[in-house]
Amino acid sequence: SELPADLDLENTPRQVEKACFSYVTPVKPRNPELIHASVEVANTIGLSKEDIASTAFLNTFSGTTIYPETKPYALCYAGHQFGNWAGQLGDGRAINLTEVQHNNESYTLQLKGAGPTPYSRNADGFAVLRSSIREYLCAEAMHYLGVPTTRSLSLLLSGDPVLRDILYNGNPAYEKGAIVARVAPSFIRFGSFEIFAAREDHKNLKLLADYTIKHHFSHIQKEGIEKYLAFFQEVTQTTLNMIVNWQRVGFVHGVMNTDNMSIHGITIDYGPYGWLEDFDSGWTPNTTDRQHKRYRYGNQPEMALWNLYQLANALYPLILDAKPLEVILEAFSTNYEKEYLKMMQNKMGLQIKKEEDVVLIHSLVELLQRVETDMTIFFRNLSDVTKVATSKVAFNTVKAAFYNEKDLDETILSEWYDWFEKYSIRINEEVISDLERKEQMDKVNPKYVLRNYMAQLCIDDADKGDYGLLNELFEMLKKPYDEQPNFQKWFSKRPDWARDKVGCSM
Ligand code: AMP
Ligand code: MG
Ligand code: MG
Repeated sequence: SELPADLDLENTPRQVEKACFSYVTPVKPRNPELIHASVEVANTIGLSKEDIASTAFLNTFSGTTIYPETKPYALCYAGHQFGNWAGQLGDGRAINLTEVQHNNESYTLQLKGAGPTPYSRNADGFAVLRSSIREYLCAEAMHYLGVPTTRSLSLLLSGDPVLRDILYNGNPAYEKGAIVARVAPSFIRFGSFEIFAAREDHKNLKLLADYTIKHHFSHIQKEGIEKYLAFFQEVTQTTLNMIVNWQRVGFVHGVMNTDNMSIHGITIDYGPYGWLEDFDSGWTPNTTDRQHKRYRYGNQPEMALWNLYQLANALYPLILDAKPLEVILEAFSTNYEKEYLKMMQNKMGLQIKKEEDVVLIHSLVELLQRVETDMTIFFRNLSDVTKVATSKVAFNTVKAAFYNEKDLDETILSEWYDWFEKYSIRINEEVISDLERKEQMDKVNPKYVLRNYMAQLCIDDADKGDYGLLNELFEMLKKPYDEQPNFQKWFSKRPDWARDKVGCSM
C-alpha cells in the first residue's frame, strides 16, 4: 500500500536537539481574508499601501505562498514558566517567514497561527480570531504609547475553523481561525539561550550568542567574555526600560515566563495581558495566576529581574565568572528605583527632580489603592490641577476617576485633601506654568488605552463580521496622548458589566 501523499514530517512535534530552529511550511488556509493591516508597519518594512491591497500580500501573510528564495522556520527555545523549568517550548504556533532590511534596519516577519511546528507539543499551531485581535491591537497601541514592542503588520481570517476548549451548550466550540503577521528585530528570547545551557550544548549556545550579537547588537565591538557581558548588560538595561514603561501606562503582561522575554527588551507575546483600571498593584489579568499572582502589576520589576537571573545562568558557560554578572544584576534594583522615580515625577508634572518626591509618590500610590480608582483617568485629569487650586478644587479635578462615590467618606476625603495640599506646595516650587506642566504631563499620561472591555466589544463585533469598531479603536490608539474629542466616549471608566472580565490568550 502507498503512504498518504500529505505526510508532513517536518512539522511533527518532537524534541529538536543540537539546532536553533527547524524549517517548517505554513498550512495553506482554506479561505484567507484580510481584516486589517497597518500601513505604517508596511511602510517600515518597505511595503506600500498598494502592496497591502495585492493578492501577493494576502498570499504571503496568510502562509498560502512562500516568498521566493525564503525558507520559513520555527525557533527552538525553552523557558521557565511560573518559576518552574518547562523544558523545550519553541515556536508552537509561530512561523518566521524571513528577515527583511529597509532603511538600514533589519526585521523578522512572523506569522502567528499558521499551523503546527515541531514545537507545537500537543496543541494545534493555530490561533483564534479572539486572541489574534487582542495581540494585533495591543502591540500597535503599545507602540504608539512609546512602549518598546513587537509590531503588527496584518490580521487575517484563515477561513478554517479552530477547535477550542470553550464549551458551548456543553460541547467544545469551533472558533474562527486567524493569522497575525508580527514584526520585530528578531524573536530571540531569554529561553532561546536557556535551552542550550540546560542541554549543556555549549557549542550552539556560543553560536547563538555570537550570531545574536553580530546581527542585532553589532555596536558591541568587544571580544570574548567582555562581548557577552556587554550583551547581558544591554539586555538588562532595555528590559528595565520596558518595565518602567509598562508601569507608567498600567500594562500588565500576565505571562512573564522567560520564553516570553525578548532579548531586545521589547514587549512580546500578547496573551492574557490587561490594563489597570482600578489602580491595584496586586492585580493580574491572568486567571490561571490568581492564587500566587506571580505576575501582578506590582511584581513586574521583580519578575523581570528573576528572568534576567535565568538569562545570566544561561550565559554563564560563555563567561565562567559569576562576579561580573552579579554586579550587573545587583545594580538592577537601584537603577529601577531611579528610573521609576523619574517616571512618576514626570507623570505628576514635577520637572525639578527632588529626592524627597519619593515620599509624595509613595503616599499617592498608597492612596490610589484605598478605594477603587481608575489609573488612566486619575493621571490624565491630574494635569488640570492648577497652582492656585485649593485642595478641594484639586480633588474635584480628579474625582471622575473614583468608581464609587460612596467610597469617598470623610476619612478618605481628608486624606486626599492632605495629599493635594502637599502636591500644591510641590507644583508651586516648579518654574513651569500650569499650561506647560499640563502639556508635559499629557505626553506621558495616556488618555486612551486598550481597556479589556473595548477589546471584547471589538471581538464580539468582529466575530459577526463587523470590523467597524476594530478600525475605530485602531485609529484611536494611534494617538493615545491626544485629546481626540471624537473618541471622548472611550475616555471613561470600565462599565460595571465588564468588571473582572479578562481576556484569554489561546
Ligand atoms: P504562550 O503561553 O502563549 O507564551 O505559549 C507557551 C508555549 O506554548 C509556546 O511555545 C507556544 O508556541 C505554545 N503554544 C501556545 N498555544 C499554542 C497552539 N495553539 N499551538 C501550538 N503551540 C502553542
Ligand atoms: Mg509565548
Ligand atoms: Mg484599589
